[in-house]
Amino acid sequence: MAGAQPQGLGPTRRGALVSLAAAGLARPAWSAAPPLALQGVFTQGGFAIGRTAPRARILLDGQDAGQASAQGLFIVGFDRDAGAAADLIVRTPDGETARTLVIGKVDYDIQRIDGLPKDEVEPTDPALLARIALEARRKAAGFASLADDDSFRRGFILPVQGARLTARFGGQRILDGVPKRPHYGDDLAAPVGTPVAAPADGRVAFAETGLHYEGGLIMIDHGQGLISLYLHLSKVDVAGGQEVVRGQIIGAVGKEGRATGPHLCWRMKWRGRNLDPMLLVGAAAP
Ligand SMILES: [Zn+2]
Repeated sequence: MAGAQPQGLGPTRRGALVSLAAAGLARPAWSAAPPLALQGVFTQGGFAIGRTAPRARILLDGQDAGQASAQGLFIVGFDRDAGAAADLIVRTPDGETARTLVIGKVDYDIQRIDGLPKDEVEPTDPALLARIALEARRKAAGFASLADDDSFRRGFILPVQGARLTARFGGQRILDGVPKRPHYGDDLAAPVGTPVAAPADGRVAFAETGLHYEGGLIMIDHGQGLISLYLHLSKVDVAGGQEVVRGQIIGAVGKEGRATGPHLCWRMKWRGRNLDPMLLVGAAAP
């Protein structure tokens, strides 16, 4: 309780905190505070790749975000609907460094449509529902993959060459006032059979064909909770657990599952947050 604290200390402490905040430090910087360099896209759906002390603890908005690699590299992501600021802390046994990141707001493509019949009918067939539930369980295991490495460090390339970006990350339709699930991917339109390459090094966390919604689906774990997804594939050339390198062909573009035409729906997740994969193309460690 405030009344129990020595009255004289209150204003002094507050003053010190205010001046630290003005210097961009949310917490006191100790003498042995770890170094921190950041590079990335600081917007909703964006990310930051950081360099700090090897194996430093990373916290984002007060939540545990794992450990930096042995080289001191780490990655954090900002959700599609992330707030205006993100609090980043890197911590070692000797001290910690904190930084408040200003996160830019993105104007997503929002379409308001009224008076149209429902274009999607929710499945009701019990056998199909059971199949969808089983697929969801297997996918959840893929999402849970959490490689303790920094396969993201060499950066990302486009997974499909010569494709057309037909639907951007974050778009959303509002049907008769009811917001539908946002589009959490970037759609890269290309003919069926166009090779799909791993955009960065990683380990295959999921690889299956014939899923109800996704058709052929691959997930690649790039380390520290960063997982990329490849949907509607006509061909899957890798298996779960397999290591892949940037540029390696992993499958082919298709229109399997719930897709209106041939394209790769490319998605990216970081610890459950949805990132815009296109923002990672060309990214590099600081
Ligand atoms: Zn898509």
